[in-house]
Amino acid sequence: MNSEQKQAAAEAANLDIAVGFTLPHRSARGRIVRVGPLLDQVLSAHDYPAPIARILSEALTLTALLGATLKDAGGQLTMQAQTESGVIDLMVCDYRGGELRGYVRFDSDRLAEIPVVPTLQALFGKGYLAITFDQAVSGERYQGIVPLEGLSLADAAQNFFAQSEQIPSFVRLAVNDTGHVAGGILVQHLPEGEEGRERLHTRLDHPEWEHVRILAETIKGHELSNHGLALEELLWRLFHDEEEIRVLSTVALTKGCRCNFEHIRGVIGRFSEADRQEMVDEDGFISVDCEFCSRVFPISLSDLGA
Ligand SMILES: [Zn+2]
Repeated sequence: MNSEQKQAAAEAANLDIAVGFTLPHRSARGRIVRVGPLLDQVLSAHDYPAPIARILSEALTLTALLGATLKDAGGQLTMQAQTESGVIDLMVCDYRGGELRGYVRFDSDRLAEIPVVPTLQALFGKGYLAITFDQAVSGERYQGIVPLEGLSLADAAQNFFAQSEQIPSFVRLAVNDTGHVAGGILVQHLPEGEEGRERLHTRLDHPEWEHVRILAETIKGHELSNHGLALEELLWRLFHDEEEIRVLSTVALTKGCRCNFEHIRGVIGRFSEADRQEMVDEDGFISVDCEFCSRVFPISLSDLGA
């Protein structure tokens, strides 16, 4: 390898990954992610205008951060932003086993009327953010919903953790100017040392947490989205004065979707004969589309043995 190839390989190693870490002496834990090629794969299925591509990139980064906190490798995390009156009507992202996917439904006429760099309010109007954790092993399902408020999606996520989960959290998301690389960090205070259990009293101003939050806040957006910078190096920059930074295993992230003919044929196969007759077109096909991938799957009724 020449030096250019070496650099390219090093940069690629800093992309499409999530790294977990803890600060054991501060009862803090976190995740840091950077995505690149997978963003291109998700976005290439659509022809989104820049502001929509940007918010979806942020949302995928946030979904990766939250998904990477799932203990159960088969668990799923779904994030949904829904509005009553926004330019964006629906934004959905989900995470399962390192696989991410997402799409946005929006009104292109109304998008043309708002600023090129729109606020969260301009995009969503009065909306809410719903985050669902599905644990595969225990079958446990938990959903929290908060109003979509604040200046950014990161603010809305912080509100989610404060209001719905009662966990003091810091979230920052960044998308670089080309729109091809995004990064994010999530840091949380878990003084009880246990995750996912009821907390009756939460102190958002706990001195230990104040300290960690102030350090975390020094991270710059361009550092998060600079794939020349290794994530571990970034953690070191933030927390090198701490007694210990424990870096957990790295999770590889990819674009993934569950849509395929077999799966969709199975779903259609469970509909009643009468329902199928209602859905079928004049050529004998039921067309099912995957909004995540912008793909249409024509299922032949005769294939179903109907
Ligand atoms: Zn799909």
